[in-house]
Amino acid sequence: MNHELGASARFHAIRDLMTRSPREFDPPRDEQGRRLRVSEFFGVNTFDLPKMKEKLPKEVYLKLTSTIEAGKPLDRDIANAVAHAIKEWALTHEATHFCHWFQPQTGLTAEKHDAFISFDDHQRTLEKFSGSQLIQSEPDASSFPSGGMRTTFEARGYTAWDPTSPVFIMEHANGKTLCIPSVFISYHGDSLDEKTGLLRSIEVLSRKATELLQMLGYSETKKVVPTLGAEQEYFLIDRDFYALRPDLMMAGRTLLGGSPPKGQQLEDHYFGSIPSRIQAFMSEMEYELYKLGVPIKTRHNEVAPNQFECAPIFEEANIATDHNQLTMEILRKVATRHHLAVLLHEKPFAGINGSGKHNNWSLMATAGSPDLEGENLLEPGETPKQNLRFLLVLAGILKGVHRHAGLLRASIASSGNDHRLGANEAPPAIISVFMGEMLNQILNEVEKGKEAGLSTEAVMIQLGVSKLPTVMKDNTDRNRTSPFAFTGNKFEFRAVGSSASTAFPVTVLNAVVADGFSDMIEGIKKKGKTSQTIDAAVLEVIREALIESKSIRFEGNNYADEWVHEAEKRLLPHLRKTPEALAQMATAESKALFSRLEIFSEAEVQSRFHVRLERYIKNLWIEADTLKAMVDTQILPSVYSYHGHLAQGAAASRELGTKAPQTETLVRLSLLTETLQGKRTQLDDALRAAEKASTDEQRAQVLAEQVAPSMMEVRQVCDELESIVGDSYWPLPKYREMLFLL
Ligand code: ADP
Ligand code: MG
Repeated sequence: MNHELGASARFHAIRDLMTRSPREFDPPRDEQGRRLRVSEFFGVNTFDLPKMKEKLPKEVYLKLTSTIEAGKPLDRDIANAVAHAIKEWALTHEATHFCHWFQPQTGLTAEKHDAFISFDDHQRTLEKFSGSQLIQSEPDASSFPSGGMRTTFEARGYTAWDPTSPVFIMEHANGKTLCIPSVFISYHGDSLDEKTGLLRSIEVLSRKATELLQMLGYSETKKVVPTLGAEQEYFLIDRDFYALRPDLMMAGRTLLGGSPPKGQQLEDHYFGSIPSRIQAFMSEMEYELYKLGVPIKTRHNEVAPNQFECAPIFEEANIATDHNQLTMEILRKVATRHHLAVLLHEKPFAGINGSGKHNNWSLMATAGSPDLEGENLLEPGETPKQNLRFLLVLAGILKGVHRHAGLLRASIASSGNDHRLGANEAPPAIISVFMGEMLNQILNEVEKGKEAGLSTEAVMIQLGVSKLPTVMKDNTDRNRTSPFAFTGNKFEFRAVGSSASTAFPVTVLNAVVADGFSDMIEGIKKKGKTSQTIDAAVLEVIREALIESKSIRFEGNNYADEWVHEAEKRLLPHLRKTPEALAQMATAESKALFSRLEIFSEAEVQSRFHVRLERYIKNLWIEADTLKAMVDTQILPSVYSYHGHLAQGAAASRELGTKAPQTETLVRLSLLTETLQGKRTQLDDALRAAEKASTDEQRAQVLAEQVAPSMMEVRQVCDELESIVGDSYWPLPKYREMLFLL
């Protein structure tokens, strides 16, 4: 056997990489050959409202926009006209197929394609697309996770166009497909996907926020929407390396691999100049996203080597969620074209910073609200009145986040994120809120209250709340360790994992805030009966909310051990691993919250809990099986080869009567190999214990508490072996290669 076989693939990958140059693509040009500006082709592949307005009869268009405004499904009597316009647009853009594009609870998107091709009564071929095909489609749903929501004998699920999200065309080599953003529901109308809950949460949050604003005198406000800007972190490595790593292919992260002497300690990658091959990738990725109407805005190197980030201009949360899914999809597609692999996993490399997806979130009064049109409700205002509004919104958010901190933690729980949260590089698994020193002081003042007898306006001035804008502008302190930080005019939910869909975390955030607002509304109603003015009642309710939620506010270093102790004293939930975090979803309190707000029925919550728990179990199982296979078929064979090589050399030396200095390594190698074999057996035992568990909850626990630590032990021995086995015997691309070569 040729011992170099495994390692030679590695060396070929490195050699090929040396000859790779940045890939060029053909950007769109005008007749003179001038490259088009982004504004000249942005959104060409989406059929948005302005384009629909041009193509649809006026009354159909008006009906469509009022449907969208009300968040209702499309009316049957305009469906055919809308479908016709969509079809004509899609055919003009050379689409041959259409699909309902939806987001099952896999965290990914799904699509089933249908050709437009059809026969008319005379057997002539033509392109056909009807209203009913636009409104509803019936994929075979039995293979999507439903968490017990749908029994197999009733495997039907429906996808239905969500008209608030415009249809778009996805291009691929040799063809184009019209995609219809859809929700995915069961025969009985239960939500089977990530979007339905999000849409429902947006609706109820809008209702509560509107009611709250109306109480403050903004009587014409009709609708409030949550806005979202999701910063996306990711790693890029050469595709050859990826193909040589079964762990990256199967589990999305490296299950073993020794730390390189140089990691990120030099801090020379963050905001460094972008490597040319990556720059070429980014330009093409942005080009593809612009065509789809995704307003990608920033790009830069991140902290870890070969780690990068992109962020869009924020949009309404449901559109932003679709756009983040498209972003992840385009990242993958374009990476392949550049012979790169994108790693969206939260922790692809041990000992190196992981990736998150910062969810920047705020509330905006929509254009339909003349008294507050387009205003960001978390923007501190210029008058005491505006700041009373600001404080009211803020206090409602704090109240909701405080009350449902465990549920928020559950919303970001995944096997991948477990490696990141609390690892001294990402927020800990304890939810707390950072306000910034100035604002925190102001809130403390508001909390204390001031003398009675003053008008609310006078109190606001006294509290220093009338001059918030200047205060905020000066307030440049930034806390990067907080899981949920106020950043001037929005909150940043930083604990979300890089591979996660934003749908569920934002659904939960919307829900807890709607609940906070709901409480504030009741409080104001009650206090309003005895207070002199409504503003006085509002201030009183704000004060109570701040006192109630005080323990969730933390301004210090969230990475410090002291914070963990402090948080425990404050009775804040500290849910380290996914199984215990997910349990927060299935509590009576969470179920009551979701059904009170009509976001999820009890059964829907239960199914979400199960889907996530199952995913956790499957992910860990896949990781363990992959690790076993790597140890058995790659690590041990290469170790045996090297061992044999040393043994032969030592024997030959002794025969010649010379010293055999390799004996020392040989002995160490033997010991480590035996240790590895032992750890490998223990991993099997741990897996057997997981197999024997009688419920999914118990199985998840065994995986978290026995299998995951056992995998760590196997890994440690492998990594030590990597440091002594001859380089030409090692089959797996090493960290230094994957992270520093492009
Ligand atoms: P950072 O300093 O964290 O990079 P940025 O100002 O660049 O902050 O914003 C990061 C993200 O926050 C961007 O995607 C941006 O569009 C988004 N963002 C800004 N304002 C809002 C808002 N009002 N609502 C939601 N997201 C917002
Ligand atoms: Mg940010």
